[in-house]
Amino acid sequence: MTTFTETEERQELRRQVARLAKGYGRDWFVERARSGEKTTELWMEIAKAGYLGVNIPEEYGGGGGGIGDVAAVCEELAAQGCPLLMMVVSPAICGTVIARYGTPEQKQRWLPGICDGTATMAFAITEPDAGTNSHNITTTARRDGDEWVLKGQKIYISGVDEAENVLVVARAEDERTGKLKPCLFVVPTDADGFEFTAIPMEIVSPEKQFQVFIDDVRLRSDALVGDEDGGLVQLFAGLNPERIMAASFSTGLARHALEKASAYAKERTVFKTPIGSHQAIAHPLATAHIENELARLMTQKASAMVDAGDDMAAGEAANMAKYAAAEAAVHAVDAAVQTHGGNGITQEYGMAGLLVAARAGRIAPVSREMILNFVAMHSLGLPKSY
Ligand SMILES: Cc1cc2nc3c(=O)[nH]c(=O)nc-3n(C[C@H](O)[C@H](O)[C@H](O)COP(=O)(O)OP(=O)(O)OC[C@H]3O[C@@H](n4cnc5c(N)ncnc54)[C@H](O)[C@@H]3O)c2cc1C
Repeated sequence: MTTFTETEERQELRRQVARLAKGYGRDWFVERARSGEKTTELWMEIAKAGYLGVNIPEEYGGGGGGIGDVAAVCEELAAQGCPLLMMVVSPAICGTVIARYGTPEQKQRWLPGICDGTATMAFAITEPDAGTNSHNITTTARRDGDEWVLKGQKIYISGVDEAENVLVVARAEDERTGKLKPCLFVVPTDADGFEFTAIPMEIVSPEKQFQVFIDDVRLRSDALVGDEDGGLVQLFAGLNPERIMAASFSTGLARHALEKASAYAKERTVFKTPIGSHQAIAHPLATAHIENELARLMTQKASAMVDAGDDMAAGEAANMAKYAAAEAAVHAVDAAVQTHGGNGITQEYGMAGLLVAARAGRIAPVSREMILNFVAMHSLGLPKSY
């Protein structure tokens, strides 16, 4: 049966996560961000409640649910003003790739720690020179006896300081052809030769981005996840979850901004009636709410397709969801700032502090332009421009 609403179980999951996150709230989150502290208590509490690894198979400490479940958790946290970016990365990207392509031994080694919050895994593909063009990455892996030796550089890698390991996309030399092919390696953050420095960012978030230097890092042969020849396919397994989670992060932020702005617009009166009765204030909020509900619907569609095993079809929906959610969040936050007038720029009301986080949704993990390229080519059959 086709259904356009979520199951009662999923809705209950949302209610529970919202209740838990409300106990922390936006002020707590911002205070942590501004003082340079972490949000570890919240991370550990959602892990303990079983929400962090809700998408990971039960035999490895997870909840046995789907990407739609972990996306719901991500969205509800953001809607309470406590977005956790590492949820996009650790359980959704890394967890999915390892659960699907790791050996039983690798799953046993890494997945339980991802689920219980003690061994967060970051994800590193972006490089300073390659940027969006990840075919051009130059981090290389060469075999040396039983070991792999990794060398390269990564940039904008989230949460390295909070992670035990990083799933690094590198290129290994094909023994027969000499060609470099993408491969995935799990690299411990305390490995010799692995260094990272924080990049000062304008986002109000306790989770930071890092430049990563990988200087002849030696890894056991089983640090390679999955098949040496299947790197690209394996990498793709993480892309739909990544887009769906990024979309949920944005739709949650949009809900947070719209809720605050609506409450403010009902209270604040400067002429005869509350400012929310002026269409100039009400309509942008209503427009953003519509955009956000459409983005949520597409996100849920993409999740349902991934969870039904239809990765190919899900690709289009996941990209569209990510695009629509980022746009909705940018519009929602902008309207929320405007609704608050001068208060919109104060730290006390916290609206302007959402601007950069919402704006980042248009850039990462995949830019708006690359999604438009994808849709132009794959949905509309237009020629490739690059
Ligand atoms: C907050 C944040 C967190 C991040 N976390 C991670 C992480 O954990 N791990 C990780 O690996 N990466 C991470 N990134 C990196 C992110 O994925 C990249 O910033 C993003 O993919 C864009 O790459 P770039 O910054 O090199 O931009 P560039 O590739 O330099 O692109 C610059 C601009 O040109 C446009 N452009 C490029 N090529 C084309 C084209 N063919 N057609 C049209 N437009 C084009 C882009 O859309 C963009 O607007 C993060 C980034 C941010 C901002």
